[in-house]
Amino acid sequence: MKNGKTLAFDIGGTKIASAVVEISGSDYKILDYKKNDTPEGHNEIVAKILELFEFYKGKYNFKTIGFSIAGQINLKGDTVVYAPNIQSLDNFKLAKAIEQKTNCKVFVRNDVQCFALGEDRFGKHKECDNVIFIAIGTGIGGATKVNGKFYFGQDNIAGEFGHMVIVKDGLECACGRKGCWERYFSGPAMEEMYEKTYGQKKSAREIAESALRGEKKDKEFMIEASKFFTTGLSNLINILNPEIVILGGSMFKQKSILKFMTPYIPKKVLPSARKTKIVNSSLEEKAFLLGAVID
Ligand SMILES: [Zn+2]
Repeated sequence: MKNGKTLAFDIGGTKIASAVVEISGSDYKILDYKKNDTPEGHNEIVAKILELFEFYKGKYNFKTIGFSIAGQINLKGDTVVYAPNIQSLDNFKLAKAIEQKTNCKVFVRNDVQCFALGEDRFGKHKECDNVIFIAIGTGIGGATKVNGKFYFGQDNIAGEFGHMVIVKDGLECACGRKGCWERYFSGPAMEEMYEKTYGQKKSAREIAESALRGEKKDKEFMIEASKFFTTGLSNLINILNPEIVILGGSMFKQKSILKFMTPYIPKKVLPSARKTKIVNSSLEEKAFLLGAVID
């Protein structure tokens, strides 16, 4: 969609965000927005999507629906191939199921690709040609733009940065390897590590907030976690030599946590790569919905 109104859905393991977005070039307006829980089962998810479609259809005129899905999507953009956090959507032909019921044109994309495309079209750094996008939440996903073009790989699954090994024989990962980056710096990884270190349960958000308030124990923990983060990030910077790295996802909701990381990056990247800018997403959560409306 270059211009006009589109209904957008961002479907994750726990929440479905939806919005009617009107775009004109690189300007956008979010006309309406809702957040609901993600039901279990694909029939229930489809029913929820259709209920929201009817609600928005009563108020706005649109002919396209875009989906941002936390999972791998086929190259054609119509089927969810593998969604570890919404397993009922595995191998589900989502576009067909929704097109039949709505008469709208439907396109489906991976959520991190949506984040990157949204930032690229509507964000503050849209003029950059060599960019690494990283979204961190329950895992670490990413996308790369090289010489002005996105690189999504042969099967549309490039950007699984979270499964880059940063610790030899490290913690076991669900992917079958040991020492993957997302086992050291992601919401669940930080919570697990915190409990192991201090025998206390705390959410990643609470840890970040109290570290930012200056609470000694949590600040130390955040500094250690940041070292894991910057190891992976520096690997990517050295390999791809981007102009800029844009960070998003729920881990970077507290934007100031970036300050724990920046001291370690120059020591780990090659001198020539030290001028790479590292910034927070300018659109935050909206990037996922905005990326879903671009076809
Ligand atoms: Zn892994």
